Parts: sequence; C-alpha cells; structure tokens
Amino acid sequence: MSELTQYIKQEIAGLEPIEALRFLAGHFPAEIVFSTSFGWEDQVITHMIFTNNLPIKVFTLETGRIFPETYYVWNRTMEMYRKPIFAYYPDHSLVEAMVNQKGPSSFYESVENRKECCGIRKIEPLKRALAGNKCWVTGIRADQSANRQDMDNLEWDEVNNILKYHPIYSWTLDDVKAYIKKYNVPYNTLHDRGFPSIGCQPCTRAVQEGEDFRAGRWWWEDQSKKECGLHAVK
Ligand code: SF4
Repeated sequence: MSELTQYIKQEIAGLEPIEALRFLAGHFPAEIVFSTSFGWEDQVITHMIFTNNLPIKVFTLETGRIFPETYYVWNRTMEMYRKPIFAYYPDHSLVEAMVNQKGPSSFYESVENRKECCGIRKIEPLKRALAGNKCWVTGIRADQSANRQDMDNLEWDEVNNILKYHPIYSWTLDDVKAYIKKYNVPYNTLHDRGFPSIGCQPCTRAVQEGEDFRAGRWWWEDQSKKECGLHAVK
C-alpha cells in the first residue's frame, strides 16, 4: 500500500461516508470526481454529495446505449438537486469505425468484440473523465459480486493511476434501499423490475431471485469474470 493510501486510510478510518467524502474533497480540491451510472448505490452517493454541497465533480459515461429509464432518472436528479452532472461521450469516429465494420451489435459475437465496444464507449471516455484527478469515488459495494469482496473501501487503482474510494463499500442492499426511501432519493425504476445492476440496454437483463448481482450483465459470457474494465479486478 502506498504512503498516500495508508495516510488517507488512517484519516478516514471510522468516519461515516459523508465525513470521509468531506475529508477527501478537502484533501483533493478540484481533483476528486464521482462516477455515476444512476444505479441506486450511485444515487445514494449523489444525494450525499449534492445535499452537502461537496466540491466533488459528478460525471457519467454516456455510452449511447443506455436505457430510457436511465435518462429519466438522470434528468430527475438534475432537476431535483439543481446541480450539474457531466456527461462523457465516446469518440464518435471510433464508434463509427466499429459500427461501420461490424454492425451495431458486434458485442454479442465474441468477448473481444464486447471488450472493444466497452473500450470505445466506456474506457476511453473514462480516461478523459479521470484525467488530472487524484481521487475517484464509486458506488461499489462488497456484496455485489465475489470479485468485489476482495477489494477494499480505499485502494490504489494502478490501471488508472488514481486513488479510489467506495463510500458505501460495506453497505448491504437493504441499507441502500432504506437510505433511498428515507431521503426520497430518485432511483431507476428498473431496480423494481429485477435489474440489480443497470448498464447498457443490450447488455443488461433482469435476474431471477437468488441469482448473482451481475448475472444480468453480459449473460452470454463466462460467468466468473464479467467486469467491463472500469473497475479492474485484482
Ligand atoms: Fe458496448 Fe455492451 Fe459494453 Fe455497453 S456494455 S459499451 S453496449 S459492450
């Protein structure tokens, strides 16, 4: 663990998420960002940031393939909190080259094609969103998948060269739902229809009761490792 990670870890140990976020915002002025995909974990953190006026830039990756329900909650969130949410779009020339050569649904054909699409629509815009920042806040929770249980609420992301903080890492889904209800936080109604994890429309489906959190993402692939590359798994 780097000295910086160690230091921050000590400083935020035992703090509530909101206090830890306040500390990090003060420690990394204008160099801290939060990525949202408008799932309910992200909405909890958005609520914390916006209602406390924390100077943390909130951004989203607009892949061009997200659900209508996601646009709705995005809009509702901006209306309700009257704060900006910055959108990062893919490089249109890269999308055009891929779609012109392989069609609009190449991601179903192979893992390579799927990774290519995620690379163009998510990873490249993410790199732009993170550039120049020192801390990246996410809505990851430990019990979302087996891979994520090996992580920590604070970690150094070697791929993106940035400190990552997951404020509600130890929360259960019930904790998240209770918070949403208590503070009347707008949320994506797809969650009520069996979507625990909401990404791009063609790559996300509802899951059955008892299925893994990420069973509905890229369900046609090997079930063991299905992160999209945004959060590199150790
Ligand atoms: Fe493309 Fe699917 Fe990845 Fe979205 S989740 S970027 S549509 S492969």
